[in-house]
Amino acid sequence: MDTIDPTTGKKIKSYPEFSLSKINGILNRAEKSFQAWRGLSFKERGEKMKKAAALLRGNKDRYARLMAQEMGKPLPQGRGEIEKCALVCDFYAGQAETYLAAEKIITEARESFVMYEPLGIVLAVMPWNFPFWQVFRCAAPTLMAGNGIVLKHASNVCGCAQAIEQIFKEAGFPPNLFSNVFLANDKVKDLIAHPLVRAVSLTGSTGAGRSVGSAAGWAIKKTVLELGGSDPYIILDDADLDSAVETCVYSRLINGGQSCIAAKRFIVMDSVFKEFEEKFVAKMKSQRMGPPLDEGVDLGPMARHDLRDQLHKQVRQTVRQGAKLLTGGAVPKSAGAFYPPTVLTNLKKNMTAYQEELFGPVAGLIRVTSEEQAVEVANATVFGLGSAVFSGTVERARRVALRLEAGCCFINDFVRSDPRLPFGGIKQSGYGRELAVAGIREFTNAKTVYIK
Ligand code: NAP
Repeated sequence: MDTIDPTTGKKIKSYPEFSLSKINGILNRAEKSFQAWRGLSFKERGEKMKKAAALLRGNKDRYARLMAQEMGKPLPQGRGEIEKCALVCDFYAGQAETYLAAEKIITEARESFVMYEPLGIVLAVMPWNFPFWQVFRCAAPTLMAGNGIVLKHASNVCGCAQAIEQIFKEAGFPPNLFSNVFLANDKVKDLIAHPLVRAVSLTGSTGAGRSVGSAAGWAIKKTVLELGGSDPYIILDDADLDSAVETCVYSRLINGGQSCIAAKRFIVMDSVFKEFEEKFVAKMKSQRMGPPLDEGVDLGPMARHDLRDQLHKQVRQTVRQGAKLLTGGAVPKSAGAFYPPTVLTNLKKNMTAYQEELFGPVAGLIRVTSEEQAVEVANATVFGLGSAVFSGTVERARRVALRLEAGCCFINDFVRSDPRLPFGGIKQSGYGRELAVAGIREFTNAKTVYIK
């Protein structure tokens, strides 16, 4: 497996794929460690998790550089990502005991209660877009609940995968309790079928979700699927447009537009459409694109050349279907996988950019004539991850928010994950939740105890 620098197109390093017998050895050691780990107190587990947080903070620049090299994330965004990983480690180190405390239930029994026990080794299949955050978002609660983790990371961020494994090692976690394996995606089903793998968490595309979900369904193993999105941002006619434009552009371009919860479709009411469109295009044009290791760059290259080419194909197709290109939409001549901030307007229902997830710096503007139509357009998608509403009247925005088919809705702000709030989707954006109390309970056995 080769990692390629998307800024230059040059190979960084090769990593040999693990054989299934090597993985079997890892899983056996992991199981042994899990049996010891589950017996520790929350305080003991929490101390190691806090050590992992300290290691993250202490090596922030090194990890940010690694992400910049392997998938093109600008350095300041990489540093922010590492800070957030440390935060989620500290958060669950402090909260796990409360979240998983046994709950008494009044019945006719002398005593009855529910307790939350770990399941065992959880397979984490993770994407490249937030190479550290996606892993820690899953690992911090899952490990604090007493489980182990075997990580199959995306093939283009092997260096990040190794670095994360090293963090848990240095933090004093038991041998192989957190293990990285290098494996091609067509062999993931063999790992899912392994008797020592008790559950699976996948963050990735809907296609990968179908494949992992089917294999886990066949093996009767619990899954959490965090998949793609086409998040609608509704701009009502009484919104503060300057603030809405600022927030919408930020949300569309963060991480080079390669975020599941990036704003993707902008649904704007007729009377403010022209003004929003002009301001939005001006803001998109003002972004600085360049090498991710240069400080002050807003937009690095996309993570891989094939992903950039796929995005460009979606843009070309949408233009052929009748959308108007307001800026961007051309592949730069430089060597890297760069794609400029791009705006498509007059999007209609049958168009590619309306139907599919655009995983890059491309925004689609849709004009609507009523609040009713805005809701209808927002929900007319196979996805249901995030959503946002902008309005000067909170009650009006709340009314719209309650009608949106999504895992969350942010009012007058952009969608983001937060350890305190549950995160996940509905429809083809997946099922199950990460973060908060819901996230740490996903990979536990809610065991009923009844004492006559
Ligand atoms: P991806 O191609 O689906 O890959 C994600 C992970 O799944 C990688 O480790 C990949 O391994 C593996 N994989 C791919 N196909 C598989 C298959 N058929 N069976 C088993 N494993 C498979 O997604 P991506 O391009 O890395 O990430 C972008 C997608 O992830 C977008 O759709 C985005 O919206 C979604 N995403 C969702 C969330 C969320 O929280 N809902 C967060 C981030 C990203 P290889 O690299 O070896 O192919």
